Amino acid sequence: MVRRTRESLRDGEGSLERAVRELTEELQQVNDRLLAATRARAEFLSYMSRELRTPINYILDLAAALDDGSYGQVNDRQRQCVRYIAEHGARLRSLVDRILDLSGMDIGLTRFVPQHFPVTSAFEEVIGRLRPLADRRGIRIAARSAVGAGSIYADRQKFTFIVEELLTNALKFSGAGSMVVAEIIETQSAGHRYFEVTVSDQGPGIPQEDAEWIFFGFERGMGAPGGNGGVGLGLALVRRFVELHGGRIWVDSHPGRGSTFTLLIPGEEALPRDHPAPRILFGGAHPLRVQRFAHLLREEGYEVVVAEEGGALLDTAFSSSPDLVLLDPEMPGMECLEVCRRLKSDSVTAHLPVLMISDLTGKEIRAAAARAGVDDIHPFPPDMEELVPKIRSLVVRKLAFERMKKSCERAEAEAGTDQLTGLCNRRQLLAILDRELARSRRYGRFCSLAMIDIDFFKAYNDRHGHVQGDEVLRLAAELFMESVRDSDIIARYGGEEFIVIMPETGKEVALVVGEKLRHAFAEHPFPLEQTQPGSTLTISMGIATFPPDAENRQQLIDRADKALYAAKNSGRNRVAVWGSPSP
Ligand code: GH3
Ligand code: MG
Ligand code: MG
Repeated sequence: MVRRTRESLRDGEGSLERAVRELTEELQQVNDRLLAATRARAEFLSYMSRELRTPINYILDLAAALDDGSYGQVNDRQRQCVRYIAEHGARLRSLVDRILDLSGMDIGLTRFVPQHFPVTSAFEEVIGRLRPLADRRGIRIAARSAVGAGSIYADRQKFTFIVEELLTNALKFSGAGSMVVAEIIETQSAGHRYFEVTVSDQGPGIPQEDAEWIFFGFERGMGAPGGNGGVGLGLALVRRFVELHGGRIWVDSHPGRGSTFTLLIPGEEALPRDHPAPRILFGGAHPLRVQRFAHLLREEGYEVVVAEEGGALLDTAFSSSPDLVLLDPEMPGMECLEVCRRLKSDSVTAHLPVLMISDLTGKEIRAAAARAGVDDIHPFPPDMEELVPKIRSLVVRKLAFERMKKSCERAEAEAGTDQLTGLCNRRQLLAILDRELARSRRYGRFCSLAMIDIDFFKAYNDRHGHVQGDEVLRLAAELFMESVRDSDIIARYGGEEFIVIMPETGKEVALVVGEKLRHAFAEHPFPLEQTQPGSTLTISMGIATFPPDAENRQQLIDRADKALYAAKNSGRNRVAVWGSPSP
């Protein structure tokens, strides 16, 4: 009898395990499909925003020229329209830029160029830039910096963007006579150096129902319903950039008393091994139990956030990026399993471990909990000696998963970036070119490609050394970036060879762009260039256009290369177009 009961229990357990395994596999498939859909959406958004950028830029240029009288006098009514276009167009452009940046991150097109730089001066630079705006609005910025060694290893452009975005937001939401505090300090945690940046304002604060979406751009809506002049995607980008550095960001806000954004960025190259005080979100309302748990968990080194009912717990899970959710069975508002189902069905919170405390530990409840995505159930009343290690292991697993995800994102961004110049590298260029050509084919448009090579660069290197040569390559990249349109893509193709992809551009315009670049390069004062032939560094360029010159990517590159060869042969410092007689 006892044996039979044991066997049937074992059978029961076996089939339960199978059911859980099947469910896990099913979930995995759903997850894979979701990921594929997210990627497809990001690719579409990325195309769309690049497509929009060119006409918007033309419209803005035209509006500016009309406004400053370059095209003759306009009447008052016309001027009013033109200014309206300029103002709203600028907003549209920044929206499109952000969509491009965000979707670029999702499809691995982000450039990530970490370097060592003095963090205080970068921080103060941003504050200096924003002071005039603060003065105009009658807001005082109190800046504090307590930074020891002072050097951070980060992508400077992204770091600056993060600080600027937080400060601009703080100013936007502050009234005249109020104060914004911006602070950067250096902290240590578990033997690692971190920089902690906080930006506090005395504005209206973020209502609980809004707090849940502010870091999640597309997933959570486009901007404050009241309209605050922002485009609502800045914080989403800030969060992604912070995470790209292996850091984290959160907001503490009290309606009526202002908000504080805090972010932590590791100071060194290596990603931190340990997290600064993992955060546990405790769902429960029983005052004694809340107090007891919060006290015990804090003693164990956790930070504890309490939500007293289901709806508030979901909001807090979105807004305060916890590392584990602990559910008390008596939490009012929403059934525990329903809370868990919702957490697990949103891509933002799906990987948060959920630990449920329950006095029901039978087979049915375990199966139901597994279906809802609960990671573990712990019997009630809880034995803390057992519960604490369980929490620790779930938190450690979650942090390890996040670190892996971050380093994958980071590796992907780095893999597409040329570390010397910060431009796309050859690998990324080829991927972009494939997409651009597919688009040209689909819509019957041109796409031109310019291959650039620095003239007599070997002589420069031989004379001044490779380090000096590398400096020229960096300066050249900067010059190219400044000289082409936003919609063009520049890459370092090889040693001292660069490629510019010009979407939507036929031969004639490509030639104009090429000549502009060639002139800009020849006129640019490069260090020590007096030793070069003609006392100046120059480039030669070959241009080919899809579809007339080539049927595919390789052919297009080859033809541009042949044209470059012709430009070199006919004396250098010139632009040759494939299929035209030599210049
Ligand atoms: P040409 O006008 O025919 O292009 O003459 P060139 O001397 O530039 O000849 P070529 O393009 O064949 O030589 C490329 C030289 O560029 C060789 C090398 O000295 C230099 N070079 C290539 N890659 C790098 C790099 O990453 N850093 C530095 N500093 N120099 C590089
Ligand atoms: Mg070369
Ligand atoms: Mg060369």
